[in-house]
Amino acid sequence: MKKATTETPETAAETMTPAVNDRPEDGGRPEAAPSEARPRVPRPKRARSRRVAGVAARSSAEAAEAAGATAAAPAPHILIIGGGGTGGALAHDLTLRGLRVTLVERGEITSGTTGRHHGLLHSGARYATTDRAAAIDCSGENKILRRIAPGSFEENDGLFVALTDEDEEYEKQFTEACWQCAVPATRLDRDTALRMEPGLNPALRFAIQVPDATMDAMRVPLRFFATARRAGADIRPFTEVVAFTSSTAADGSGRTVSGVKVRDHAAGREYEIGADIVVNAAGAWAGKVAALAGVDVPVVASPGVMVAVRGRHTNMVVNRLHAPGDGDIVVPQRLLTVVGTSSWIAADPDDLTVPADHVAAILRESSELVPAIARAEVRATWAAARPLIGVAPGSGLAAAAAPAAAPAAAMAAALAAAGRGLPRETRCFDHATDATPTEGFVTIAGGKATTLRAMAEITADVICAKLGLDRPCQTREVVLLPHTAWYRA
Ligand SMILES: Cc1cc2nc3c(=O)[nH]c(=O)nc-3n(C[C@H](O)[C@H](O)[C@H](O)COP(=O)(O)OP(=O)(O)OC[C@H]3O[C@@H](n4cnc5c(N)ncnc54)[C@H](O)[C@@H]3O)c2cc1C
Repeated sequence: MKKATTETPETAAETMTPAVNDRPEDGGRPEAAPSEARPRVPRPKRARSRRVAGVAARSSAEAAEAAGATAAAPAPHILIIGGGGTGGALAHDLTLRGLRVTLVERGEITSGTTGRHHGLLHSGARYATTDRAAAIDCSGENKILRRIAPGSFEENDGLFVALTDEDEEYEKQFTEACWQCAVPATRLDRDTALRMEPGLNPALRFAIQVPDATMDAMRVPLRFFATARRAGADIRPFTEVVAFTSSTAADGSGRTVSGVKVRDHAAGREYEIGADIVVNAAGAWAGKVAALAGVDVPVVASPGVMVAVRGRHTNMVVNRLHAPGDGDIVVPQRLLTVVGTSSWIAADPDDLTVPADHVAAILRESSELVPAIARAEVRATWAAARPLIGVAPGSGLAAAAAPAAAPAAAMAAALAAAGRGLPRETRCFDHATDATPTEGFVTIAGGKATTLRAMAEITADVICAKLGLDRPCQTREVVLLPHTAWYRA
């Protein structure tokens, strides 16, 4: 068996022919760092017309040819910043459209919010009454993901459980909204619900069954990464963007981004990567990354706390039948039960706390749904930040709207309320349309892990339009490689 750090001549040669710094207009200037300074991350042997679960995988050369590339004009090169689910799905989509892709991630793949989420494949029911667009997106993507990533979900369904008069009153609004958002919802009487899920609070009045499911937060995106890499994408973990390379128009009317400068944390070196378009898929860090290019994006980091307790106390996903709140989702994950979450707005996604009162409230609320949780051993608590579209109270972008400094307590309350109140919408920003245009730079943000494929489709559509390419999305149908393919270089 090969050692992970040993490159065969073939893989070494491929490492030396990356899709970087070879834009036709810059004459294919070499990278700032020599090839031996590259990360010693094992590189895959590229597939040559191998079948990917029924779909022909293409080598990067084939992909480039499909995009109309010639020796004189290679296929356009897209640089993606961020190795979460969104970046992985985008790499997959773009390679299928015949573009050359390099993805850089400052840590390990999925080490951002993606690897820390609740593991709920949303049916859309949770957002049906409060965020119809998000609910419709989730409803559609739930079906598509089951089709393209078979075996990655526990097809266990979900229950929305009514415990009180208020919950009962919410039923009509909830079921109507589910119907409007194409989320199948079936009412179960108390006894049927308890037969299906004996761990529920026996005081429940009734429950509504929906097609929620449990997913593995890391394995689903790894399937996108593995398939994209097989199709020629160059994926570089431990590679952090520290600056942008750009030029300013002579009349000062705007800028054009031409690439990025990265720090290779494995090799301890910095080098530049040129690109036709740079995509900011840095999730909750999107604002920080955009700032490196001198661009403002209205993306806020909205953290939530998760608590894992020992034991599998339900087999289905369980929600409280009320408008989305704190501590009202119970997800069985392998032999654990993961409960959550809370929501607030943080100034810095790298500086998250796990407030003890959030943990206590989450355990209290979830125990109302599933009483055994109150007696279970807490195995882990953590926080992760949602990348939501919005402007944080007190932030620079909000200052114009609310210039007065608020007292700390009032600001904390405003941040908590703002976190839960923000929509889960997806937005793709083409910064060429900003007040001060920045050409060659796009940001994708918002959404959910459930909608990663759709986020990628929207972004790839924007990129193709910018490049004048008519290349339809194929990711609704292409079945992904298994997650284990990621580990096989
Ligand atoms: C507590 C919580 C629970 C959730 N539960 C669910 C759920 O059950 N179901 C669901 O569908 N969704 C859930 N979500 C939402 C979901 O997790 C996110 O929407 C999704 O994971 C975001 O993925 P992303 O790829 O956009 O961001 P990320 O996964 O954060 O990826 C962005 C990446 O960019 C990298 N990066 C940052 N700066 C740089 C740089 N300078 N250079 C290179 N790389 C950089 C980061 O390291 C990071 O890995 C939850 C979110 C939270 C916070």
